[in-house]
Amino acid sequence: MSLTEITSRISAAESAADRAPGSVKLIAVSKVQPNDRVEAILDQGQRVFGENRVQEAAGKWPDFRSRFDGIELHLIGPLQTNKARQAMELAEAIHSVDRPKLATTLARLAQETGHCPDLFIQVNTGEEAQKAGVLPKDADAFIQQCRDLDLPIQGLMCIPPAEEEASLHFALLAKIATRNGLSGLSMGMSGDFETAIALGATHVRVGSAIFGARSGSA
Ligand SMILES: *Cc1c(COP(=O)(O)O)cnc(C)c1O
Repeated sequence: MSLTEITSRISAAESAADRAPGSVKLIAVSKVQPNDRVEAILDQGQRVFGENRVQEAAGKWPDFRSRFDGIELHLIGPLQTNKARQAMELAEAIHSVDRPKLATTLARLAQETGHCPDLFIQVNTGEEAQKAGVLPKDADAFIQQCRDLDLPIQGLMCIPPAEEEASLHFALLAKIATRNGLSGLSMGMSGDFETAIALGATHVRVGSAIFGARSGSA
């Protein structure tokens, strides 16, 4: 699907949900994609991208940044504390704040450097053992803990279980955000971003629908 098609589907979903035009940010998820495909999307004007590994992002984005203005990079994959400093230097936003140890590390580095990307707390709405994210029942306390650390929490993020109805998970994430006074909702991928927009997504993370299928499993 072309980038133009995706952006017009986003606009249509915004208007169907009575959302303001432009209220949803498209994050083009470029993980594992060959550089020429990423460059083609940059050439079409897209500037907001998502990567799920710090290492991969570090290998590819400094060069693109030197050639294209206004790039905004979002890290959307699980983050190890020993990569936190590099992640904070590389990215404008991190969507995977999911545990106290990472929160305290980010807070310490933010104090030390005077800089912190926008942060999203990942919620494991499906309570899946293999998936990152704070459990729904622990979300309120963790959000409070992050606020007590002065972290710039913009909102919440989730990845619904593949085999379940995504809308239930999007609605749960929206409910947790609302009761905590958070406006950002990072939810919706290639197969369900319109559903996510109907339920309040402010950031959709779309990979394969823009770039085509990824080779490999990541
Ligand atoms: C890969 C990935 C996406 C994009 O998935 P697609 O189905 O290719 O759109 C979105 N969010 C996260 C966290 C991802 O790892």
